[in-house]
Amino acid sequence: MQRIEEAKKLAKYKLCDACLGRQFAKIGYGKRNEERGKEIREMLGLAEILPNDCWLCGGLMAEIEKFADLVIDALKDYEFETFLIGCKVDEEILGREKEIALPYSESIKREINREVGKIVGKKMDKRVDFISPDIVAVINTLYDVVEIDVRPIFIYGRYEKLKRGIPQTKWFCRKCHGVGCDYCNGKGKMYDESVEELIAEEALKAFEAKDESFHGAGREDIDALMLGNGRPFILELKEPKKRNINLEELREKINKYAEGKVKVKCLRYAQRSEIEKIKSASYPKIYRVKIKFEKKGKINEAVNALRGRIIKQRTPKRVAHRRVDRIRERKIFDITIEEIGMKHAILKIKAESGTYIKELISGDEGRTTPSLSELAGVKMEVEELDVIYIGDEDEKVERI
Ligand SMILES: [Zn+2]
Ligand SMILES: [Zn+2]
Repeated sequence: MQRIEEAKKLAKYKLCDACLGRQFAKIGYGKRNEERGKEIREMLGLAEILPNDCWLCGGLMAEIEKFADLVIDALKDYEFETFLIGCKVDEEILGREKEIALPYSESIKREINREVGKIVGKKMDKRVDFISPDIVAVINTLYDVVEIDVRPIFIYGRYEKLKRGIPQTKWFCRKCHGVGCDYCNGKGKMYDESVEELIAEEALKAFEAKDESFHGAGREDIDALMLGNGRPFILELKEPKKRNINLEELREKINKYAEGKVKVKCLRYAQRSEIEKIKSASYPKIYRVKIKFEKKGKINEAVNALRGRIIKQRTPKRVAHRRVDRIRERKIFDITIEEIGMKHAILKIKAESGTYIKELISGDEGRTTPSLSELAGVKMEVEELDVIYIGDEDEKVERI
């Protein structure tokens, strides 16, 4: 009875059926607001008010089909399975809505989202997903425009770097920051290519994505190779038009494009949450290091002394301009001599994540201690450094 009284009070506002029915939305069972409103209106013997004459929506409820068409037009070039509709509604309408709201009212935005969603879903044969939709379409009902937000695609993989002198990520010019200037020959970059660009080129094309971000599990020096099982990475593709690309075919395309420089493997679709995981994981690594020296000194004893040892490394001089100056402790799990000559040796070193290998050999003028140079009693330096294996984050094996 109380509800009938409330409905009678609303009569003076002249509401269209949808707007009237919406005020009682939480009472009904699976009826559309428009149907519910019609029943209430007929029960009270009121005349029909068309949306264009409606005090509340001012005609908005007559535009549902049109909004659905706008959304369909905005989404037609995108591949997706799930979507979600949002909308922006005139503040004045929202103000009037507040004025007459009942405890069982639903908001007009919610009704528009749902009704448009039903039509879009049916016509495009896609489904609504409230938690993690592939695309969100937001209708601006004032200007009849649709803004879309496309969920990025994340691809996990491991890469090998087969050529020295390639940085991991795009490195913008330090003078112009990407615009292009004399210093960078108008390229805007410090290096012609990077692991990131070599991998992303074909992926951007395949997914018809607008942009990308590259997330590596750490990085090797520009002049170091990355061999063996490769370094984990996640490639984020932004605003992709395609979402279902055969990653085996993509892998072949990338490896052809980047031939002799970079090679990818183990590609699979990933989640955003995995970025943080690979970035924070401490993967033990095995390096192959070619070192040079004038005299061998006590190299055998030095290698034996470093095996299983914890060393102290003060931030190396070469990175001091971009890293905090502090002392870190790192464990050298294993170190062996693979080859030794008069002036060169090749070592295999398995070390904790974050160990500065060049400094482990040279000592960095006493900043790393103990070092191979210090223990051998002669000056030794890294000539070539390659990462030949990166473990998994939970790997516990401590011997090579
Ligand atoms: Zn209305
Ligand atoms: Zn520049």
